[in-house]
Parts: sequence; C-alpha cells; structure tokens
Amino acid sequence: IKTIGIIGGGQLGRMLAMAAARLNFQTVILEPQADCPAAQVSNSQIVAAYDDSAALAELAKRCDVVTYEFENVPVSAAEVLARSVPVYPPAMALEAAQDRLVEKRFLNDCGIPTADFRAIDSQADLDAALTAFGDKGVLKTRRLGYDGKGQRVFRSAADRSDDAYASLGSVPLILESFVAFEREISIIAARASDGTVACYDPAENVHRNGILHTSTVPAAISQPTADAARRAAETILTTLGYVGVIGIEFFALADGSLVANEMAPRVHNSGHWTEAACVISQFEQHIRAVAGLPLGNAGRHSDCVMQNLIGDDILALPEWLRRPDTLVHLYGKTESRPGRKMGHVTILTGK
Ligand code: ATP
Ligand code: MG
Ligand code: MG
Repeated sequence: IKTIGIIGGGQLGRMLAMAAARLNFQTVILEPQADCPAAQVSNSQIVAAYDDSAALAELAKRCDVVTYEFENVPVSAAEVLARSVPVYPPAMALEAAQDRLVEKRFLNDCGIPTADFRAIDSQADLDAALTAFGDKGVLKTRRLGYDGKGQRVFRSAADRSDDAYASLGSVPLILESFVAFEREISIIAARASDGTVACYDPAENVHRNGILHTSTVPAAISQPTADAARRAAETILTTLGYVGVIGIEFFALADGSLVANEMAPRVHNSGHWTEAACVISQFEQHIRAVAGLPLGNAGRHSDCVMQNLIGDDILALPEWLRRPDTLVHLYGKTESRPGRKMGHVTILTGK
C-alpha cells in the first residue's frame, strides 16, 4: 500500500492524513470544498461531490485502498468503488450506521440493548408512539443527524404538538424511549484485516448544546461496565467483518448496565484524547488497519480530559498554549462560527 484515499475533507480526514504521512503513505482527499482542513495537510485533493462517478473512478485509480471520515458516504458510492479498490470499513458498516432504525435493529440482533424505538412516518405514528412511551421520548431523523441536529425531546404531555412530525421535515423519523442515564460513555475500537481487535479505554462524554464538550478518561464506571462495552464493540466489529476504527456511544445506567446509543464507522471525536494519552492514536490505528499493518497498542499511559474548542472557545488559545500539561490541536479553519469545531485540547491529568 502506497496511497490511501480518504472520502471527506474535514478535521477527521485531516488527522487521518497526518497519521498516514507519518507512516510514509500518500493521501488523496475527495471533498467538494476546496482548501478543506484535510487538503491542507494531504498530498492532493479531488474537488468533487462524494458520489461523482468520474471522481470516484479517479480516486480508485490513484489509490491502493479507500477509507472515509464520515458515515454519510453514499452506500452506492462505496459499492461502486469496492469493485475496483478495497474500501474499508466495508459498505455493510455504512449501511448499518447511516439509518438509526437499521442501526438499532442491527445492535439488537447483536444482542446489544438499545432504547425502545418506533419507526415514525406520520404524525399519527408519532401520536401513537408517544402514548405508548408515556409522553416521553426523543424524536430523531433516521438519517443525517449530528451534534443533536434533527431531534426533538418530549418530556411530558405538554411537549406534544400537532406539527412535531412536520417540524423535523416530514422525513422518516424514529422515536426512542427516553433513557434516564447516569452518564454517557463511548468506546473506540479497531479491527485489523486478520481479525485482531484492539479497544481503547472507554471515555466519559459530556455534551453542551448537543455538541460533545469533554471526553474524560478513565470514565467513572466499574470494570464490569467497561468490559461490557469492550465485548459489545468486539461483537459489532466481528459481525460486520469490519476493518478500521469504530466509535460506539452508550448510555450507562445507575445499575451499571449499558444501552447503546449509536455507532460511527470512523474515527470519533470522543477518541481524540488517544493522540495525547496513548502511544498509538485512533488515527494511526485506523491507518494501520486499512493499510493491512498490524494494530498498535491501544493502551493508555495517562489520565486525561479532551475538550473541544467550539466557535469562540478558540479565543482562549493563548491560555491553552501556556499550559504545560496540554496538547493543542487546531483544524486549520480560519473563520470561527457558533457551533463550529475549531480544534481541541487534551489535558493530561495524571497517571
Ligand atoms: P453525535 O454528534 O454524537 O453524532 P447525534 O446528533 O447523532 O450526535 P445522538 O447521539 O443520538 O445524536 O443524541 C445526542 C445526545 O442526546 C446524546 O448524546 C444524549 O445526550 C441525548 N440523547 C439522545 N438520545 C437519547 C435518548 N433516547 N434518551 C435520552 N437522551 C438521549
Ligand atoms: Mg451521531
Ligand atoms: Mg451521538
């Protein structure tokens, strides 16, 4: 393997390209936006839509393997590519992760519990499901939601309204039962093409305005809970015949049991801490996996807290740079906007 194609040119693609360069791989980014975060550090970019057939053909021709940084790559594009070049993670993982209804059924088929759920295709479906769930639940678009976008929370009968279905765009929705979790955790895991699996320690995640704010490691969970997260990750990776890194989010309940929330078939924001607190980051791990190299050690040498720098958080950069315990990582975005991820910091908090 000499050249790795990466579909998607955001910060995740950027960090993958940086890890690839360190192992002497060339990278080609497919991304419609010129001068994207990934293109600034990659060897080259194909400026085109993710499903542009000429661009996909060129990517296949120029690369020895193709991967992606986001889960909304059209499955058809991955399948077309896979006819002429290996594509990792496999298209089956995209299919399982793109649609929350398919995803929950997949997780349940793996024996992994999720929130109770109902497919919602009309206001009548919603009314019936809310009644069944005691007026509580989280209504989400089945596809394309991120950072809490495309969601509506129902806490009591007062939150019900006749236009709730339409308010999310009259697209296919899912109503999930409301999970009264004690904390949220995620696990970052990798599977190599020879079937070896490596898991990082679970992180505890706190969201602000629907966006990940901090990931703290170790999470305040018991060993059996951490083991359950590892076992779930192993089952998911093996069932999908997966190659690469995956991020899986869970709700941890007061009794220590886990309810899976969602999975992302890619490197994950809640795994950014690995670049500071592990010898092998999630980015290098992903590159190793898709390039057919042995996985690296996912062990952790420090406790840490990763904090996203969102919008004007970036104004505190001078202070972060002065802290001796902190790794700063910026994404090359010149313009800061509310809610925009500009970078992150990882603060080492001990051994
Ligand atoms: P991400 O940016 O992580 O991809 P997303 O937009 O895909 O987020 P989810 O992870 O499904 O959305 O939900 C966002 C947050 O909303 C969760 O981290 C959790 O805090 C809360 N949440 C989601 N679903 C439920 C639920 N069924 N019960 C309780 N809280 C929930
Ligand atoms: Mg998500
Ligand atoms: Mg999430």
